[in-house]
Amino acid sequence: MRLDLGLFVYLMINFIYFAPQFLQTSMILVRTVTELKSVLQSSGQAGSAGFVPTMGALHRGHLSLVEKAVDENPLVVVSIFVNPTQFNDPKDLERYPRTLESDLKLLESTGCQVVFAPDVTEIYPEPDTRKFDFGQLDKVMEGKHRPGHFNGVAQVVSKLFEMVQPQKAYFGLKDFQQLAIIKSMVKQLNLPVEIIPCPIVREQSGLAMSSRNELLSAEERTNAATISQTLFKAKELRTEKSVSELEKWVTETINKNPFLKVEYAEIVDDTLLQPVKSWHDHSVKVLCVAVFCGKIRLIDNIVFN
Ligand code: AMP
Repeated sequence: MRLDLGLFVYLMINFIYFAPQFLQTSMILVRTVTELKSVLQSSGQAGSAGFVPTMGALHRGHLSLVEKAVDENPLVVVSIFVNPTQFNDPKDLERYPRTLESDLKLLESTGCQVVFAPDVTEIYPEPDTRKFDFGQLDKVMEGKHRPGHFNGVAQVVSKLFEMVQPQKAYFGLKDFQQLAIIKSMVKQLNLPVEIIPCPIVREQSGLAMSSRNELLSAEERTNAATISQTLFKAKELRTEKSVSELEKWVTETINKNPFLKVEYAEIVDDTLLQPVKSWHDHSVKVLCVAVFCGKIRLIDNIVFN
Protein backbone atom coordinates (compact mmCIF):
# COMPACT_ATOMS: atom_id res chain seq x y z
CA MET A 1 0.00 0.00 0.00
CA ARG A 2 1.39 3.42 -0.98
CA LEU A 3 1.12 6.10 1.65
CA ASP A 4 0.83 9.58 0.20
CA LEU A 5 3.67 11.78 1.55
CA GLY A 6 1.31 14.67 2.32
CA LEU A 7 -0.98 12.37 4.31
CA PHE A 8 2.02 10.92 6.18
CA VAL A 9 3.26 14.40 7.17
CA TYR A 10 -0.27 15.37 8.20
CA LEU A 11 -0.60 12.25 10.42
CA MET A 12 2.83 12.84 12.00
CA ILE A 13 1.99 16.45 12.86
CA ASN A 14 -1.27 15.33 14.45
CA PHE A 15 0.50 12.59 16.41
CA ILE A 16 3.17 14.96 17.74
CA TYR A 17 0.54 17.54 18.68
CA PHE A 18 -2.04 15.23 20.29
CA ALA A 19 0.02 12.32 21.72
CA PRO A 20 1.10 14.12 24.90
CA GLN A 21 -2.55 14.92 25.65
CA PHE A 22 -3.51 11.26 25.28
CA LEU A 23 -0.57 10.04 27.30
CA GLN A 24 -0.89 12.61 30.03
CA THR A 25 -3.44 11.79 32.72
CA SER A 26 -4.37 14.25 35.42
CA MET A 27 -5.11 11.47 37.94
CA ILE A 28 -2.18 9.98 39.83
CA LEU A 29 -2.12 6.52 41.42
CA VAL A 30 0.11 6.25 44.48
CA ARG A 31 0.87 3.08 46.41
CA THR A 32 2.96 4.23 49.34
CA VAL A 33 2.69 6.84 52.08
CA THR A 34 5.98 8.40 50.94
CA GLU A 35 4.62 8.84 47.39
CA LEU A 36 1.35 10.20 48.75
CA LYS A 37 3.09 12.80 50.94
CA SER A 38 5.31 13.90 48.08
CA VAL A 39 2.35 14.29 45.67
CA LEU A 40 0.43 16.28 48.29
CA GLN A 41 3.44 18.52 48.96
CA SER A 42 4.10 19.23 45.32
CA SER A 43 0.40 19.97 44.65
CA GLY A 44 0.64 22.99 46.95
CA GLN A 45 -2.65 21.80 48.55
CA ALA A 46 -1.28 19.74 51.46
CA GLY A 47 -3.66 20.02 54.40
CA SER A 48 -6.61 21.20 52.30
CA ALA A 49 -7.64 18.12 50.32
CA GLY A 50 -11.10 16.62 50.16
CA PHE A 51 -10.90 12.91 50.99
CA VAL A 52 -13.10 9.91 50.12
CA PRO A 53 -12.06 6.66 51.80
CA THR A 54 -13.38 3.51 50.06
CA MET A 55 -12.74 -0.22 49.85
CA GLY A 56 -13.01 -0.17 46.05
CA ALA A 57 -15.35 -2.14 43.78
CA LEU A 58 -16.69 1.30 43.06
CA HIS A 59 -20.25 2.06 42.00
CA ARG A 60 -22.37 5.19 41.55
CA GLY A 61 -22.80 5.50 45.33
CA HIS A 62 -19.04 5.95 45.77
CA LEU A 63 -18.82 8.20 42.73
CA SER A 64 -21.49 10.54 44.15
CA LEU A 65 -19.18 11.13 47.15
CA VAL A 66 -16.19 11.74 44.88
CA GLU A 67 -18.16 14.12 42.66
CA LYS A 68 -19.31 16.13 45.68
CA ALA A 69 -15.72 16.25 46.92
CA VAL A 70 -14.51 17.44 43.48
CA ASP A 71 -17.15 20.20 43.53
CA GLU A 72 -16.06 21.42 46.95
CA ASN A 73 -12.26 21.02 47.02
CA PRO A 74 -9.29 22.07 44.86
CA LEU A 75 -7.65 18.67 45.40
CA VAL A 76 -9.41 15.32 45.96
CA VAL A 77 -7.82 12.12 47.24
CA VAL A 78 -9.69 8.80 47.02
CA SER A 79 -8.32 5.81 48.90
CA ILE A 80 -8.97 2.23 47.84
CA PHE A 81 -8.08 -0.18 50.59
CA VAL A 82 -9.85 -3.34 51.73
CA ASN A 83 -9.17 -3.00 55.43
CA PRO A 84 -8.67 -6.42 57.06
CA THR A 85 -9.15 -5.18 60.64
CA GLN A 86 -12.81 -4.29 60.08
CA PHE A 87 -13.82 -7.76 58.85
CA ASN A 88 -15.01 -10.00 61.65
CA ASP A 89 -15.72 -12.81 59.17
CA PRO A 90 -12.59 -14.05 57.29
CA LYS A 91 -14.78 -15.44 54.47
CA ASP A 92 -16.32 -12.00 53.95
CA LEU A 93 -12.81 -10.50 53.66
CA GLU A 94 -11.72 -13.20 51.22
CA ARG A 95 -14.66 -12.81 48.86
CA TYR A 96 -14.79 -8.99 49.02
CA PRO A 97 -14.55 -7.81 45.37
CA ARG A 98 -11.24 -6.24 44.27
CA THR A 99 -11.44 -4.42 40.93
CA LEU A 100 -8.66 -1.80 40.91
CA GLU A 101 -8.41 -1.42 37.13
CA SER A 102 -12.07 -0.68 36.54
CA ASP A 103 -12.15 1.50 39.69
CA LEU A 104 -9.40 3.68 38.22
CA LYS A 105 -11.32 4.03 34.95
CA LEU A 106 -14.44 5.15 36.84
CA LEU A 107 -12.45 7.60 38.96
CA GLU A 108 -10.80 9.19 35.92
CA SER A 109 -14.20 10.49 34.79
CA THR A 110 -14.84 12.25 38.13
CA GLY A 111 -11.91 14.66 38.04
CA CYS A 112 -10.32 13.41 41.27
CA GLN A 113 -6.57 13.97 41.23
CA VAL A 114 -5.04 11.37 43.55
CA VAL A 115 -5.88 7.70 44.15
CA PHE A 116 -4.15 6.10 47.12
CA ALA A 117 -4.23 2.28 46.88
CA PRO A 118 -1.78 0.94 49.46
CA ASP A 119 -0.92 -2.64 50.40
CA VAL A 120 -1.84 -3.96 53.84
CA THR A 121 1.79 -3.69 55.05
CA GLU A 122 1.84 0.01 54.11
CA ILE A 123 -1.10 0.75 56.42
CA TYR A 124 -0.19 -1.82 59.07
CA PRO A 125 3.61 -2.15 59.21
CA GLU A 126 2.85 -3.47 62.70
CA PRO A 127 -0.45 -4.75 64.06
CA ASP A 128 -2.64 -1.89 65.25
CA THR A 129 -3.33 -2.61 68.93
CA ARG A 130 -5.40 0.53 69.60
CA LYS A 131 -8.80 0.05 71.23
CA PHE A 132 -11.37 2.80 70.78
CA ASP A 133 -14.24 3.33 73.19
CA PHE A 134 -17.42 4.58 71.55
CA GLY A 135 -19.63 4.05 74.61
CA GLN A 136 -23.13 2.95 73.65
CA LEU A 137 -22.65 3.94 70.00
CA ASP A 138 -21.08 0.63 68.96
CA LYS A 139 -23.08 -1.60 71.30
CA VAL A 140 -26.09 -1.66 68.98
CA MET A 141 -26.87 -2.91 65.47
CA GLU A 142 -23.66 -3.35 63.39
CA GLY A 143 -21.49 -2.99 66.50
CA LYS A 144 -23.46 -5.69 68.31
CA HIS A 145 -23.58 -8.12 65.38
CA ARG A 146 -20.05 -7.52 64.06
CA PRO A 147 -17.79 -7.43 67.13
CA GLY A 148 -14.62 -5.40 66.51
CA HIS A 149 -15.90 -4.00 63.21
CA PHE A 150 -16.01 -0.35 64.27
CA ASN A 151 -12.71 -0.57 66.11
CA GLY A 152 -11.19 -1.67 62.78
CA VAL A 153 -12.99 1.16 60.94
CA ALA A 154 -11.67 3.72 63.45
CA GLN A 155 -8.14 2.27 63.17
CA VAL A 156 -8.00 2.56 59.40
CA VAL A 157 -9.80 5.90 59.06
CA SER A 158 -7.65 7.55 61.76
CA LYS A 159 -4.51 6.29 59.98
CA LEU A 160 -5.77 7.48 56.57
CA PHE A 161 -6.66 10.89 58.04
CA GLU A 162 -3.14 11.13 59.44
CA MET A 163 -1.66 10.25 56.02
CA VAL A 164 -3.91 12.42 53.82
CA GLN A 165 -4.44 15.32 56.29
CA PRO A 166 -7.78 16.23 54.67
CA GLN A 167 -9.81 19.32 55.41
CA LYS A 168 -13.07 17.56 54.55
CA ALA A 169 -13.93 13.85 54.38
CA TYR A 170 -17.00 12.38 52.69
CA PHE A 171 -19.02 9.42 54.04
CA GLY A 172 -22.27 7.85 52.84
CA LEU A 173 -25.46 7.75 54.91
CA LYS A 174 -25.80 4.18 53.63
CA ASP A 175 -23.49 3.25 56.54
CA PHE A 176 -25.44 5.32 59.05
CA GLN A 177 -23.78 3.93 62.17
CA GLN A 178 -20.31 4.20 60.64
CA LEU A 179 -20.91 7.91 60.06
CA ALA A 180 -21.84 8.39 63.75
CA ILE A 181 -18.70 6.46 64.78
CA ILE A 182 -16.45 8.58 62.55
CA LYS A 183 -17.95 11.82 63.89
CA SER A 184 -17.34 10.59 67.43
CA MET A 185 -13.76 9.54 66.61
CA VAL A 186 -12.98 12.93 65.07
CA LYS A 187 -14.19 14.62 68.26
CA GLN A 188 -12.35 12.20 70.58
CA LEU A 189 -9.05 12.72 68.73
CA ASN A 190 -9.57 16.48 68.10
CA LEU A 191 -8.96 15.97 64.39
CA PRO A 192 -9.29 19.09 62.20
CA VAL A 193 -11.50 17.32 59.62
CA GLU A 194 -15.02 18.26 58.63
CA ILE A 195 -17.17 15.17 58.09
CA ILE A 196 -19.61 15.54 55.19
CA PRO A 197 -22.58 13.10 55.07
CA CYS A 198 -23.81 12.13 51.59
CA PRO A 199 -27.23 10.66 50.62
CA ILE A 200 -27.79 6.99 49.77
CA VAL A 201 -27.64 6.21 46.04
CA ARG A 202 -29.96 3.40 44.99
CA GLU A 203 -30.32 1.08 42.01
CA GLN A 204 -33.44 1.53 39.89
CA SER A 205 -35.17 -1.20 41.92
CA GLY A 206 -34.54 0.80 45.12
CA LEU A 207 -31.79 -1.56 46.33
CA ALA A 208 -29.08 0.51 48.05
CA MET A 209 -25.94 0.38 45.92
CA SER A 210 -23.22 -1.70 47.54
CA SER A 211 -20.03 -3.42 46.41
CA ARG A 212 -21.53 -6.58 47.92
CA ASN A 213 -24.43 -6.46 45.41
CA GLU A 214 -21.88 -7.74 42.85
CA LEU A 215 -21.72 -10.99 44.83
CA LEU A 216 -25.47 -11.66 44.43
CA SER A 217 -26.89 -13.86 41.68
CA ALA A 218 -29.29 -12.12 39.28
CA GLU A 219 -32.22 -13.76 41.08
CA GLU A 220 -30.93 -12.73 44.52
CA ARG A 221 -30.36 -9.18 43.33
CA THR A 222 -33.96 -8.89 42.10
CA ASN A 223 -35.27 -10.24 45.41
CA ALA A 224 -32.97 -8.01 47.49
CA ALA A 225 -35.07 -5.05 46.29
CA THR A 226 -37.70 -6.22 48.82
CA ILE A 227 -35.47 -4.72 51.53
CA SER A 228 -35.71 -1.09 50.39
CA GLN A 229 -39.30 -1.49 49.23
CA THR A 230 -40.21 -2.58 52.76
CA LEU A 231 -38.36 0.41 54.25
CA PHE A 232 -40.22 2.84 51.97
CA LYS A 233 -43.56 1.26 52.92
CA ALA A 234 -42.62 1.34 56.63
CA LYS A 235 -42.14 5.09 56.42
CA GLU A 236 -45.75 5.42 55.20
CA LEU A 237 -47.08 3.03 57.87
CA ARG A 238 -45.46 4.71 60.85
CA THR A 239 -48.58 6.68 61.75
CA GLU A 240 -50.62 3.47 61.95
CA LYS A 241 -48.34 1.33 64.13
CA SER A 242 -46.33 1.61 67.34
CA VAL A 243 -42.51 1.52 67.09
CA SER A 244 -42.30 -2.14 68.12
CA GLU A 245 -45.21 -3.13 65.84
CA LEU A 246 -43.48 -1.47 62.92
CA GLU A 247 -40.14 -3.22 63.64
CA LYS A 248 -42.02 -6.54 63.79
CA TRP A 249 -43.87 -5.76 60.55
CA VAL A 250 -40.60 -4.93 58.76
CA THR A 251 -38.96 -8.17 59.95
CA GLU A 252 -41.93 -10.31 58.96
CA THR A 253 -42.43 -8.62 55.58
CA ILE A 254 -38.78 -9.04 54.57
CA ASN A 255 -38.62 -12.61 55.90
CA LYS A 256 -41.64 -13.56 53.77
CA ASN A 257 -39.27 -13.34 50.81
CA PRO A 258 -37.57 -16.78 50.77
CA PHE A 259 -34.26 -15.25 49.60
CA LEU A 260 -33.99 -12.97 52.64
CA LYS A 261 -33.37 -13.36 56.38
CA VAL A 262 -33.42 -10.33 58.67
CA GLU A 263 -30.60 -10.09 61.23
CA TYR A 264 -32.01 -6.95 62.85
CA ALA A 265 -34.58 -4.25 62.10
CA GLU A 266 -34.36 -1.44 64.63
CA ILE A 267 -35.72 2.06 64.94
CA VAL A 268 -33.16 4.28 66.66
CA ASP A 269 -32.52 7.97 67.25
CA ASP A 270 -30.20 9.59 64.68
CA THR A 271 -27.48 10.79 67.11
CA LEU A 272 -26.77 8.19 69.80
CA LEU A 273 -28.45 5.41 67.79
CA GLN A 274 -30.28 4.12 70.85
CA PRO A 275 -33.54 2.16 70.43
CA VAL A 276 -36.60 4.38 70.29
CA LYS A 277 -39.62 3.30 72.38
CA SER A 278 -42.27 5.72 71.16
CA TRP A 279 -42.90 8.12 68.30
CA HIS A 280 -43.53 10.92 70.80
CA ASP A 281 -39.98 11.85 71.85
CA HIS A 282 -38.39 14.63 69.82
CA SER A 283 -35.53 12.69 68.24
CA VAL A 284 -35.20 12.16 64.51
CA LYS A 285 -35.72 8.44 63.97
CA VAL A 286 -33.95 6.06 61.62
CA LEU A 287 -35.04 2.55 60.69
CA CYS A 288 -31.91 0.43 60.15
CA VAL A 289 -31.79 -3.14 58.87
CA ALA A 290 -29.24 -5.86 58.21
CA VAL A 291 -30.47 -8.69 56.01
CA PHE A 292 -28.83 -11.83 54.67
CA CYS A 293 -29.51 -12.52 51.02
CA GLY A 294 -28.07 -16.03 50.72
CA LYS A 295 -24.56 -15.71 52.17
CA ILE A 296 -24.32 -11.97 51.51
CA ARG A 297 -25.11 -9.54 54.28
CA LEU A 298 -26.70 -6.27 53.18
CA ILE A 299 -27.53 -3.15 55.21
CA ASP A 300 -29.91 -0.29 54.52
CA ASN A 301 -31.74 2.44 56.40
CA ILE A 302 -34.35 5.15 56.05
CA VAL A 303 -34.65 8.37 58.04
CA PHE A 304 -38.14 9.28 59.37
CA ASN A 305 -38.49 13.03 59.78
P1 AMP B 1 -17.12 1.20 51.18
O1 AMP B 1 -16.27 1.09 49.97
O2 AMP B 1 -18.27 0.26 51.21
O3 AMP B 1 -16.32 1.23 52.44
O4 AMP B 1 -17.81 2.64 51.08
C1 AMP B 1 -17.04 3.81 50.98
C2 AMP B 1 -17.94 4.99 51.21
O5 AMP B 1 -18.99 5.00 50.24
C3 AMP B 1 -18.64 4.93 52.59
O6 AMP B 1 -18.66 6.24 53.14
C4 AMP B 1 -20.01 4.46 52.24
O7 AMP B 1 -21.01 4.88 53.16
C5 AMP B 1 -20.23 5.12 50.88
N1 AMP B 1 -21.28 4.41 50.14
C6 AMP B 1 -21.32 3.09 49.86
N2 AMP B 1 -22.46 2.79 49.20
C7 AMP B 1 -23.14 3.96 49.06
C8 AMP B 1 -24.41 4.30 48.49
N3 AMP B 1 -25.19 3.40 47.92
N4 AMP B 1 -24.79 5.59 48.54
C9 AMP B 1 -24.00 6.53 49.12
N5 AMP B 1 -22.81 6.27 49.69
C10 AMP B 1 -22.39 5.00 49.67
